[in-house]
Amino acid sequence: MKKILITGAAGFLGSHLCDRFIKEGFHVIGMDNLLTGSLDNIKHLFPLKEFEYYHHDVSKFVHVPGDLDYILHFASPASPIDYLKMPIQTLKVGALGTHNLLGLAKAKNARILVASTSEVYGDPLIHPQKEDYWGNVNPVGPRGVYDEAKRFLEAITMAYHNFHGVETRIIRIFNTYGPRMRVNDGRALPAFFSQAIRGEGITVFGDGSQTRSFCYVADLVEGIYRLLMSDHHLPVNIGNPDEITIKEVAEEVVKLVGNPDAKITYKPLPKDDPKVRQPDITKAREILGWEPTVSREEGLKITMEYFREVVKV
Ligand code: NAD
Ligand code: UDP
Repeated sequence: MKKILITGAAGFLGSHLCDRFIKEGFHVIGMDNLLTGSLDNIKHLFPLKEFEYYHHDVSKFVHVPGDLDYILHFASPASPIDYLKMPIQTLKVGALGTHNLLGLAKAKNARILVASTSEVYGDPLIHPQKEDYWGNVNPVGPRGVYDEAKRFLEAITMAYHNFHGVETRIIRIFNTYGPRMRVNDGRALPAFFSQAIRGEGITVFGDGSQTRSFCYVADLVEGIYRLLMSDHHLPVNIGNPDEITIKEVAEEVVKLVGNPDAKITYKPLPKDDPKVRQPDITKAREILGWEPTVSREEGLKITMEYFREVVKV
């Protein structure tokens, strides 16, 4: 039985990855320090003998006994309000945490996939974003702690590949949504769904003309699985190219939830908020034969059902 370590296992993406790799017949070690995650996301896995949970901060030396075949490094605060609240932890997990996990991969002769982000492109001057675009990041702005941590993550991962011959994979994830996002993580869709369900004002930042391209979590997980199993060590964008303005997505949520008390309100745009974001997924299509299959209409419906269960009205 192949063994895989998943960091950030109690988070949104990490918990879905634990489910997927259990389903594929792996022995899964989930590691987390519950900084932004919750054991509620993985409690259904605790009775399984194929699953183990280690409570650990990966910015400190990481020890796993025995053999290890694969590592997925997903631990990191990921929403703007989380990394604004925890700038040092964000930098440490991207830098020291990634270093520790690359060291573990080298020691165990394991293949490692690290979670990078579309944020490495910053507020992009090229649209849509291709992997060979170097980005437009403000290192000293509020988002710099996250963006630069991830740029360092990519650089040190390439160094371990080139210098130590570690088998590495780098995924650049674009905005992903679905069940198990934290209700109050401040990201657009959890905010809009919880506000719409409670009948509160929907907080669109700026005039809502900025764009994002939202990928349903099951599609992302499939892309991660394919990239891990591929032999491609350079960064690959995974995301849904279906671009939409934030105002339009807020309107879609309001219509779907159907609460007459929920009305769109406008709040100031946070500093350095990227104006556009859309992945060019030519590379994922060619190398992995991957493309998204879940439409926003379908994905938003499933996500709404989840939020209706967890949002306290
Ligand atoms: P999340 O906050 O739900 O999950 C992150 C998990 O990492 C949490 O369970 C948290 O407790 C854990 N964690 C944080 N610091 C840790 C540390 N030092 N040691 C151990 N565990 C730690 O976020 P998510 O949306 O699931 O994001 C997961 C990864 O994917 C992150 O690396 C993020 O940067 C990346 N990513 C996510 C998106 C997205 O749209 N969700 C987009 C781009 C990149
Ligand atoms: N946003 C918004 N209202 C909110 C939360 C976010 O209008 O309550 C906007 C935010 O300014 C950004 C977009 O929605 O333009 C996506 O924000 P999110 O935090 O989900 O992710 P980002 O892509 O900015 O990291």
